[in-house]
Amino acid sequence: MQTDLMQIFRDACAKKASDLHFLPQDGVCILYYRLDGALKEMERYNLAQYQEILTRIKGMSQLDIGETRLPQDGRIRLAIDSKNVDFRLATLPTIFGEKLTVRIMQPMNSHLSPEQIFTNPEDLANFKKTISHAFGLILFCGKTGSGKTTTAYTAIQELSKGQKLSIHSVEDPVEYTLPTVAQTQIQPKFGLGFPSAIRCVLRHDPDVLFVSEVRDQETMELMLKAVVTGHLVISSLHVSDSISAAQRLLEIGVSPYMAASALSTVVSQVLLRRVCKHCCEEVTLDEATALHFGILEGLKIKEARGCESCNHTGYRGRMAIYEFLHFTKAMKDMIRAQNITGLQDHLVVSGHKSLKDRAREAVVAGHTTIEEMSRLT
Ligand SMILES: [Zn+2]
Repeated sequence: MQTDLMQIFRDACAKKASDLHFLPQDGVCILYYRLDGALKEMERYNLAQYQEILTRIKGMSQLDIGETRLPQDGRIRLAIDSKNVDFRLATLPTIFGEKLTVRIMQPMNSHLSPEQIFTNPEDLANFKKTISHAFGLILFCGKTGSGKTTTAYTAIQELSKGQKLSIHSVEDPVEYTLPTVAQTQIQPKFGLGFPSAIRCVLRHDPDVLFVSEVRDQETMELMLKAVVTGHLVISSLHVSDSISAAQRLLEIGVSPYMAASALSTVVSQVLLRRVCKHCCEEVTLDEATALHFGILEGLKIKEARGCESCNHTGYRGRMAIYEFLHFTKAMKDMIRAQNITGLQDHLVVSGHKSLKDRAREAVVAGHTTIEEMSRLT
């Protein structure tokens, strides 16, 4: 039984967990790690042991130890194996006591190059094309934990090389520090929300503006105006694919004309679990499944099983798949006409590779399974 908090943190970092969940239940507290995107039970504590852990972590992160009825959040930085690791934590009152969730902000490798991220030459070429524009709007899309922030940071790092561009960011929160980028953390408490911060940044002669996430019309309108006045604006949207990104842009309420003029590229990504090479089995695809997923009937594909080396999950590690949508004049015309269905049809006939197409390629290549692919549909 591991109740030493530092030991738990060290173990979670070593196992590359992204989050820890301490879930109090009737008479017991279960500790889960999120590994490769899925929860895994690691430990069970009695409530007295959990209370000890909770009090200790609240003390370390300067939360109010006595407050148990209201949610709290905070962060701590700890040295784990001689590296500084940031932990973001949040408590939540539940019927069995306070739940504690800890997000581990693994330090981003500052030398992460596009070549390391995009192992597929087609993706790498598309990425280079994306960041080659002097102005325009680039959106990185994906769900929470899809890695879109890392990809966006890689784009900014790449643009900052050579230090010829003035790069500013407006973020909430600033997740990683980037050399030679002026990073601003918004502070709504003091009146510095996204819109006011962007207005200020635009007075600082930026070439590139990064806005960590857009949720409202005012912020998006300011970003579009910045593009129209000759800036490169990079941001991320919490949507699953590129068509949804175009749709969200229109739903936010900005002028379709402005959106169409500004849009340069939408990059969407999703993480798929890699099937465990030690225990996977080769199966022949039956007719119905083949038809449903658009794969050739009779093809041999991999199915997940489970063994010691994959914690009996059948999967080990994850791979990112990408969709790059570069907006052509024809596509911009469809955005201007708010014709999302037309855009969708246009992409199908023009041979555009959607996330589903990329997932299918990964199944056929034996990297992942139909089960993982079906999560996209
Ligand atoms: Zn296995």
